[in-house]
Amino acid sequence: MNRFADAAIYPGSFDPITFGHLNILERALGIFSQVILLVAINPNKKPLFSLEESRAMISEAISDWPQAKVDFHDGLTVDYARQHNIRTAVRGLRAVTDFEHEFAMALTNRSLWPEFDTVFLMTKAEYMYLSSSVVREVAQMGGQLNQFVPPCIERRLREKFQNA
Ligand code: ADP
Repeated sequence: MNRFADAAIYPGSFDPITFGHLNILERALGIFSQVILLVAINPNKKPLFSLEESRAMISEAISDWPQAKVDFHDGLTVDYARQHNIRTAVRGLRAVTDFEHEFAMALTNRSLWPEFDTVFLMTKAEYMYLSSSVVREVAQMGGQLNQFVPPCIERRLREKFQNA
């Protein structure tokens, strides 16, 4: 019997990817046979890292997990999911404050595609206050990053703010 459920997508901005994201990914890989980190291309958001930079950084950060891959999409998550016949999204929950927004998004996605569901995984306690925006701020101020992101991401952040 196959122990794993089918593939799932893990949508997000990952700007940059953090240990919090990787913790959720690792947990998701214990449940799903494949997890696609789906980076949203949002024309209203100006990301710190370009699409090419993000692809390289995420690929390096997830290279230990062959069942994880990264892809990009500039439309609705459910459209991507439908095209790839994937019925499940994974999202991470930190504090209760994440809940309302996540709940609205999950219900919206389900109303767009009734067969689509979102699975929520709880973060590891030590990553509860970790977000990409905190990491960007700490990097900008030249603070220590090693407890927040893997070395390959730390290096890219340093380069980004040195050249800024
Ligand atoms: P978005 O802009 O779509 O929220 P993010 O990259 O900020 O994209 O987050 C993607 C997903 O990862 C969200 O479900 C978010 O709650 C989750 N996430 C982010 N940081 C953490 C963390 N420290 N622990 C657990 N989940 C996290």
